[in-house]
Amino acid sequence: MSHIAQIRNEIVAVGRTMLDKGLVAGTWGNISARVPDTSWIAVTPSGKGYKETKATDIVIVDLMGNVIEGDLKPSSELPVHLAIYQHREDVQAIIHTHSVFASACAVAHKSIPPVIEDLVQLVGGSVDVATYALPGTDILAQYVVAALANKNAALLANHGVVGCGQTLTEAMMACELVEKAAQIYIYANQIGGAQILSDDDTKVMHDFYVAYYRKRQQGRNV
Ligand SMILES: [Zn+2]
Repeated sequence: MSHIAQIRNEIVAVGRTMLDKGLVAGTWGNISARVPDTSWIAVTPSGKGYKETKATDIVIVDLMGNVIEGDLKPSSELPVHLAIYQHREDVQAIIHTHSVFASACAVAHKSIPPVIEDLVQLVGGSVDVATYALPGTDILAQYVVAALANKNAALLANHGVVGCGQTLTEAMMACELVEKAAQIYIYANQIGGAQILSDDDTKVMHDFYVAYYRKRQQGRNV
């Protein structure tokens, strides 16, 4: 199977998982990944239900957003995906969700601090809120890149979550951990206040994840 066919199949499967896990409703949210050995991006189409999306519906674009292959219009949030790929060579996959607790933080314009270990291991620190801009705009894309910095997740003010990773599985895990951390953070603040991990401990845990744990999760023996 070609790289394009393989990545399209993976994105279709991840879309169904995202819907089943309740991270999005309807056709909202979007998913992309780099096509291996090319400079192209595979991205979900605009306005198509995840259950109905076929592999050939996944649009292949270049880093400028020109359509290389596919009959449908790419996701309206393509500028956010392209801006992240342009600024972060390490990012191979991006998932954007509208999950409830993370969106509550995004609506309150409250970053999720480094409060729980699995989050900081994968994401690398706090999940910061990108300044508000209308969806689909280039300025929103720039705000998201700034909030993301060198980490693997950010919140979009009054909107939702962006999670990144070296694989689609890791990007999905980032979105799920952000949602779980947001829920924990909100609950902890109701019982006396969340205690925040130190920068040093956060760095140690993220470095361990990057050096060893991520590879073990990918089935490599390190
Ligand atoms: Zn959205």
